[in-house]
Amino acid sequence: MTLDSTDLFGPVLDRRVVPVLVPMPAPRAYSYAVPEGMAVEPGSIVQVPLGPRFVVGVVWDGEDDGGVDPKKLRAIEKVFDCPPLSPEMRAFLDWVAAYTLTPPGLVARMALRAPAAFDPEPMVEALRLTDMRPERMTTARERVLARASDGLSWTRSGLAHAAGVSSSVIDGLASQGVFETVFMPPPPVVALPDPAFAAPRLEGPQRQAAVDLLAAVEERKFSVSLIDGITGSGKTEVYFEAIAATLRAGRQVLILLPEIALTASFLERFQDRFGAKPAEWHSDLAPRTREKVWRQVTTGQVRVVAGARSALFLPFEELGLIIVDEEHDPAYKQEDRVFYNARDMAVVRGRIGNFPVVLVSATPSVESRVNGEMGRYRPIHLPTRYGDAALPDLGIVDMRRHPPERGGFLSPVLVNHIGKTIGRSQQALLFLNRRGYAPLTLCRVCGHRFQCPDCSSWLVEHRFRGQIQCHHCGYSERTPEACPECGTLDHLVACGPGVERIAEEVERHFPDARTIVLSSDLMGVKRLRLELEAIARGEADIVIGTQLVAKGHNFPNMTLVGIVDADLGLANGDPRAAERTFQLLSQVTGRAGRTGLKSLGLLQTYQPQHPVMQAIVSGDSDAFYQREIHERERAALPPFGRLASIIVSADSRGDAEGHARGLRNAAPRVDGIAILGPAEAPLALIRGRHRFRLLVHGRRNSDMQTFVRAMIAAGPKERGSISVQLDIDPQSFL
Ligand code: ADP
Ligand code: ZN
Repeated sequence: MTLDSTDLFGPVLDRRVVPVLVPMPAPRAYSYAVPEGMAVEPGSIVQVPLGPRFVVGVVWDGEDDGGVDPKKLRAIEKVFDCPPLSPEMRAFLDWVAAYTLTPPGLVARMALRAPAAFDPEPMVEALRLTDMRPERMTTARERVLARASDGLSWTRSGLAHAAGVSSSVIDGLASQGVFETVFMPPPPVVALPDPAFAAPRLEGPQRQAAVDLLAAVEERKFSVSLIDGITGSGKTEVYFEAIAATLRAGRQVLILLPEIALTASFLERFQDRFGAKPAEWHSDLAPRTREKVWRQVTTGQVRVVAGARSALFLPFEELGLIIVDEEHDPAYKQEDRVFYNARDMAVVRGRIGNFPVVLVSATPSVESRVNGEMGRYRPIHLPTRYGDAALPDLGIVDMRRHPPERGGFLSPVLVNHIGKTIGRSQQALLFLNRRGYAPLTLCRVCGHRFQCPDCSSWLVEHRFRGQIQCHHCGYSERTPEACPECGTLDHLVACGPGVERIAEEVERHFPDARTIVLSSDLMGVKRLRLELEAIARGEADIVIGTQLVAKGHNFPNMTLVGIVDADLGLANGDPRAAERTFQLLSQVTGRAGRTGLKSLGLLQTYQPQHPVMQAIVSGDSDAFYQREIHERERAALPPFGRLASIIVSADSRGDAEGHARGLRNAAPRVDGIAILGPAEAPLALIRGRHRFRLLVHGRRNSDMQTFVRAMIAAGPKERGSISVQLDIDPQSFL
């Protein structure tokens, strides 16, 4: 006998078919049957069978094509008791998928990054006072009764803590019927922010900026404002006003920050203004917290989230404002799996949800700046530092005229200023964006250079650890004593500096100073937060750091910032090299003089005439931007033209190159779109995979997605070890 599925599931006619997006690299949603009695709607988060497993998916929009026999379909297993993804959220996910040329299921997966949060949070067991009283009274019991007499429900441990007794006292009372057990909703992850908690008095340019910004926010429809003002001008204070207005209007707020794990000081500042912290969202959250935040964002319990780029994919109940702080920061670009720029996608989300978006930076990206000039974004300008905080004096140290001592990297000019600064009991910061001790090790006898076995990159010496490491794949080995090539002992030399080597040099000059090295490889986030607080309290004289010291920290006693190698980022062939260097160096020198003390920033450079150096020391960023904008326009680079990267990788060099060539040959001919390459990538080998790049260059109005899609469809099939990555609006060219 064969079983007809009708017998199992009821009459076929009653069964509906819906599309469900599953977390798979499939081009479209799959069809599933809805069992009788189950209610689903577009956006419902569901569990469905997929192959031998169950996965979480989302019921999607659109009619099912009807071509499939419902009897042959597998059925939705379960609908989670969770608000469905809103129509705006679904439109946003579809848009991101189409724009980035990513399968929609992989984009939807980013909105579902908290697996245990789809079911409601369990109720919490609590105690409430009854009319019964204990037979025998003690002072401890009296304290408990006094506390609990407010009629509210208390958790066992919360009440014990509040009354200052041990939990056994509570248990004793409960066993005599003094308390009854009740269930209450789980507590919120963060308290409610109060827009009126501590509103600042805005004056001068800040007031006008706030008026302009509030005008945009109170329209309650899509617009993009660009707040541009030097570090310390009060940009944060001004956008806090926009947040307050949005909270008063009963809508949720998302603040994107480039390095959330390091922004403990931001959370505190928010708390000082609003009386409660925002909920955090980033990859370092404990899983339980993560689930709570996700759930409470969807239910609307959480009103403000401060998060890394992935927070853009949280399914807010009623989002009404996105702030993108440090909008120029390259950390907003994600370059694995789904390649997207959170700054740009934030603007898209605002457009789809019809609410305002605010971009903020002391050094806006050229793209945003041009959008401001063209009137697409509303420029809001803050020209001066708040209060008596003065900008640091900035100067160039010409390394050709003031070379360091043999084997060193600090010019006598900088060393002299460090001495004076710590002599006044103030702090100095030395910035070098290079982890480790030395970027290259070679044998003085045979010239052998230590290279990663799996990548085309040199191994970086980390002397504190006694290792040489690859910064691309993490490969490491003990620092050898002998050259593996010629066998000579003790003739290996370190070439160039990293922060550890600068620390060594500083210690030679200032053996009694308290020196600290801040580098992501030396400590975890927790430790780093503690170190940053200690530095702010003055517990170090000289701080040597990589770019993680550049962002957001306020060191009140820091009056000297030395840039060890201002030329470092200029020579890498990236069209944004000058812009990036300008942004990073401005940000680092902006760490100095935030409290009114006279301060100094020094740039060590071999190219003192370079426009970047001139722009920074003259303070004339307008001239620099005009020059950059002109260059971009001439070369039709973004935002005057469009780029897309195609990166082909394979286990063998020939396969990668052959496939890249095949793609190029398959490209359609379209007026205004040209293909460069294939060329071997600057990082030709990563983790044993050979890489070739194609760069598609189009006009501003070119349809890059259609072009690239056509090229991939007509090109050779991906087989064997070949893989193709698409990067629309690439930021990296390595
Ligand atoms: P930015 O974000 O532009 O770097 P901030 O908003 O951080 O500037 O302001 C710099 C400093 O000045 C902060 O310590 C901030 O608290 C203070 N500040 C700025 N504006 C005001 C104001 N109107 N009232 C009180 N303090 C302010
Ligand atoms: Zn490697």
